[in-house]
Amino acid sequence: MSEKKLSRRDFLKGSAAAAAALAAGTLVGSSALAAESEEISWDREYDVVIAGAGGTGVCAAAAAKEAGAEKVIVFEKAGIMGGTTNFSGGVMQAAGTRYQKEFSDFQDDTPEKHAAEWLAEGEGYLDEALVTDLANGAPECIDWLADSCGIEWVGVYGHCHVPYVSQDLMADRIHYYKDGGASGSGGIYVQAVWKYAEGLGAEVEFNTEVTDLIVADGSVVGVEITVDGQTYKVKANKGVILCTAGIDHNIELAKALNPQQYWVETEYPGTCLCTPTDTGDGIRMGLKIGAAFVSGGTIDFCGKTGAATDNRTPVFPEFIVNTAGQRFVCEDATYAYHYRAIFQQEKATQGKTFMIFGNGGGSVDQKIANTTEGTTYAWADEEILNAAVESGELQTADTIEELAEKIGVNPQGLARTLAAWNEDVAAGNPDPFGRIDGLAPIEAPFYAYQNTPFNLGALGGLKITQQCEVVNCDGEVIPGLYAAGLNAGGWVGPYYPGSGTAIIGTCYFGRVAGKAAASK
Ligand SMILES: Cc1cc2nc3c(=O)[nH]c(=O)nc-3n(C[C@H](O)[C@H](O)[C@H](O)COP(=O)(O)OP(=O)(O)OC[C@H]3O[C@@H](n4cnc5c(N)ncnc54)[C@H](O)[C@@H]3O)c2cc1C
Repeated sequence: MSEKKLSRRDFLKGSAAAAAALAAGTLVGSSALAAESEEISWDREYDVVIAGAGGTGVCAAAAAKEAGAEKVIVFEKAGIMGGTTNFSGGVMQAAGTRYQKEFSDFQDDTPEKHAAEWLAEGEGYLDEALVTDLANGAPECIDWLADSCGIEWVGVYGHCHVPYVSQDLMADRIHYYKDGGASGSGGIYVQAVWKYAEGLGAEVEFNTEVTDLIVADGSVVGVEITVDGQTYKVKANKGVILCTAGIDHNIELAKALNPQQYWVETEYPGTCLCTPTDTGDGIRMGLKIGAAFVSGGTIDFCGKTGAATDNRTPVFPEFIVNTAGQRFVCEDATYAYHYRAIFQQEKATQGKTFMIFGNGGGSVDQKIANTTEGTTYAWADEEILNAAVESGELQTADTIEELAEKIGVNPQGLARTLAAWNEDVAAGNPDPFGRIDGLAPIEAPFYAYQNTPFNLGALGGLKITQQCEVVNCDGEVIPGLYAAGLNAGGWVGPYYPGSGTAIIGTCYFGRVAGKAAASK
C-alpha cells in the first residue's frame, strides 16, 4: 500500500482519503491551526465557545451559564437557530419520570432497564458508561426542561420492538410536549431552552461558521470563525464545545466513515431530511487534530408508510423481500433496525428490495382500518391506492408471479415466500423473523412498493469521556475540547434504537459538556 502523505488541506476538503490516512497514521501537518506556543493574536475572547446552535448547543449554553461561566457564546453557521432539531418532533425518551407514571401504564420502569435496552440494541458497539449515564440522567433532563425551561409534557408512548431484545426491557418512554410530536415542533424545545439560556446571559451569533480549532501546547485554546469571508480568532478560556451534529450532508466523510449514510446519499439522493448546514464540520475539525472516531449507523425509515415508527400505529399486513423474492427481516421491528437490513440486503444483492402487500382477508381499506384503528395510512384510501398505481409508485398484478416479473424479482422465490406467509398466519405459527404485528393473509390483487429510505441523520461521532471531553486515538483527553449530541459517538450504535433517543441525547450530553467546560 502506498505511504502517500496527506495534508491538513485534504481534511479541510472533507477528504475520504485523509480520513483513511488518519486511521493508517499517515496524516501529516494536522496538529494545529496555530503553531504550538506561537503568540496568537486574538480578535475576541470568551470563557466557553460553542459551535452550533441546535438542540445540543443551546443546552450546552444554558448549562455553562448555570455552572458559572461568565462569557458564553454560540456560533451558528446558519441564519437561524435550531439545526435539524427544529425539524424533529422533539420527542424524548426517559424512564421512571412522573410523566411516564401519569401518561402510561408503566409505573415501575427504571433507568437501569432503559440502559439495558439501549445496550442490547447497541449490539456490543456502545460505550456502556455513556449509555448508563444517559439513561440515568434522562429523567432529570425531562424535569429540567419542565421546571427551568417551561416545557409542558402532555403524553408518553413507546417504540416498536426489536426481535432479540426482551420485552421485559421495553416500556413506553417517549415523552412529547404540548404542540410537539409532529413534524417541525422540535423548534419549541430549542426556543424554550434558548430563552432560558439567554436569560442567564448566553449569546448567539448567526451566519458564523466555526472553521477550525486553534491548538497551543497540546490544548484547544480557541476557534477560527468565518463571517462574510473574513476569518477571526476567538479565544476560549475554558473550552470549546462541538455541537455541529453528524456527517449528514458530507458524502466524502460518509464514504470514509459510514457506509449506510453513503448508501442513502448516493443511491437515494435528496432523502436526507437534516438541515443542509450539518456537514460534519465538528467531526472533521476533531479528526484533524487527532481525535478518535466512534462509528455508527443511521436513522432511516420508510417515509411513505412510516412503518414501525411507534407502538400506537400497528404495521399492516405486508412483507419485505429481496431480488430472490425472500424475506430477510422482521418488518414490524423498529424502523431503523429493519432499514439497516434493507441497506445490507441491497448492498449484498446489488438489487432493490420491495414491500409486498395485497387485499388479504378483505379490502386493503378494511385490513388497514382493522389494524390501525382509524389512523390514516399511505394507500388506505382506494383512490390514493389507484393513484399510486397510476403514477408508478406501486406495481400491481393479479398473480404473485406476474407481480414478480414486473419488479424484477425471482417469481418462484416470491411465490414460495407468499405461500409460507399465508400458511403460517393461517396456522397461527410464530413468525420466523419474530414479527408480532400485521400477521394476516395476503391475497390478490397484489401490490409492490420499492423501499425508499428517508434519512433523519447519521450516527457516529467523536469519541468522548463521560464528561464529554474529546479523546485522541491513544485514549487521552484533548484538553479544552468537548463534543456532544450527534457530534459525539459511542452512545447510539449500528442502528437508531427508536424515536426520542437522539433528542434526549442532545439535552443530556449538551448539558454535561456545558457544565464540564464551565467548571474547568
Ligand atoms: C424530520 C426529523 C424528525 C426527527 N424527530 C426526532 C424526534 O422527535 N426525536 C428524536 O430524538 N430525534 C429526532 N430526529 C433526530 C434529531 O432531530 C437529531 O438527531 C438531533 O436534532 C441532532 O441534534 P444536534 O444538536 O446534534 O444537531 P443540530 O440540531 O442539527 O444542530 C447542529 C447545528 O450546528 C450548526 N453547524 C454545523 N456546522 C457548523 C459550523 N461549522 N459552525 C457553526 N455551526 C455549525 C448547524 O447549522 C446546526 O444548527 C429527527 C430528525 C429529523 C430530520
